[in-house]
Amino acid sequence: MDLLHHALWPGGKFLGVEWSVWKVVGWVGNVVFTSRFFVQWYATEKRKQVVMPVIFWWLSLAGSFLILAYALFYKKDSVFIFAYAFAWIPYIRNLVIHHRNERARRRCPDCGAVSPGTARYCSQCGANLSQPAATSGPAQ
Ligand SMILES: [Zn+2]
Repeated sequence: MDLLHHALWPGGKFLGVEWSVWKVVGWVGNVVFTSRFFVQWYATEKRKQVVMPVIFWWLSLAGSFLILAYALFYKKDSVFIFAYAFAWIPYIRNLVIHHRNERARRRCPDCGAVSPGTARYCSQCGANLSQPAATSGPAQ
């Protein structure tokens, strides 16, 4: 027990690191940011094709903001700050495009299958999706 304590807390520092609130913010940012690679890798292995799951962009955004906060308020290092200062732009752009694609998806009026917004025909039953959606009530 004493040996474990000395291994984890050498010189009274946990894992040899002097901890503070900002160290925790920085490390959580690191873990969140790094986890996105494993999430993406897992999604790609599962589908056996390169996939970028939407959670990848959320993890990128959250992780980079935490690391940026650490760089801005704790490290105060211009190189470090610059490395993360603009990273959020492509992350947010990818999330916006993903959201727009999700919103544009069309449900087949015949079989109920969901197709991308650019699809002209249902991939399940071949129904024409470019027809305006049938409205309820009598035709006028
Ligand atoms: Zn269909």
